[in-house]
Amino acid sequence: MDDEGASAVPGAGPASQLLLGLARLGQAVRIDARRNAGVHNLSPLQADIVGHLGSAQVPLRQGELVEALASTAPTVSDAVKALRRKELLVVSADPGDARVLRLALSDAGRAEAARLAEVSPTLAGAVDALGEEDFAAMLRGTVALMRELQQRRAIPVSRMCVTCRFFVPDAHPAATGRPHHCNFVDAPFGDAALRVSCPDHQPREV
Ligand code: SF4
Repeated sequence: MDDEGASAVPGAGPASQLLLGLARLGQAVRIDARRNAGVHNLSPLQADIVGHLGSAQVPLRQGELVEALASTAPTVSDAVKALRRKELLVVSADPGDARVLRLALSDAGRAEAARLAEVSPTLAGAVDALGEEDFAAMLRGTVALMRELQQRRAIPVSRMCVTCRFFVPDAHPAATGRPHHCNFVDAPFGDAALRVSCPDHQPREV
C-alpha cells in the first residue's frame, strides 16, 4: 500500500484507516447478529453454526465446523451442546467411523437457517445505498483481502469463486462488463456477482 500523501492529512496511515473501517463494519454485523437472536436466543456462534449447516446442505463433522468457522474445538462443542438442547440439531454416526458424530439441522434448525439467511433491513439498506461501481469494487476488494488472508492461514478457506474449479477469470472482454465465466452454469459474470460463499463451489486442484 502506497503511503504517499498520508502525512498531508491527520491520523493513522491509509492501511490502518482501511483496517479500522473493516473493524467497524464487522462490529455492525455483530451488533445486528445479536439483535437477530430470534426465539431460540442464538449467540453469534450458534447462528454461524446454523447458517453454515444450512448452506452446506449435508451433515458435517464437528471438526469441519471448527475449521470452517475459525473457532476452537471447546468453543464449538459448547455451542453445539446448546443447539442440541434447543433441538435445532440432529446427530448421527459417521458411516466411515462410528465414533465420530455428524451434525445436521432439525426441521426447527432449517427454519432458523432460513430466517438467518434473510439479510436484516439495516444491513441490506446500507448495501443497497452503494452505487453499482462501488459495490463491485468493494466485493472485488473483499475477495482479494480474503484470499490473501487465506493464503496466510489467518482465516479458513471458503467456497469462493477464486478457489473454484469452475471459475475462469477474465475469460471475456472487460468491455462486456462481465469478464469472468462460471463453467458450472456456463455463464459470464462481473465483479459484482463474485461469490464468497457458493453452494456449487468445487475446490480447484492445487
Ligand atoms: S460454481 Fe459458484 S463458486 Fe464456482 S465459479 Fe460458479 S459461481 Fe463461482
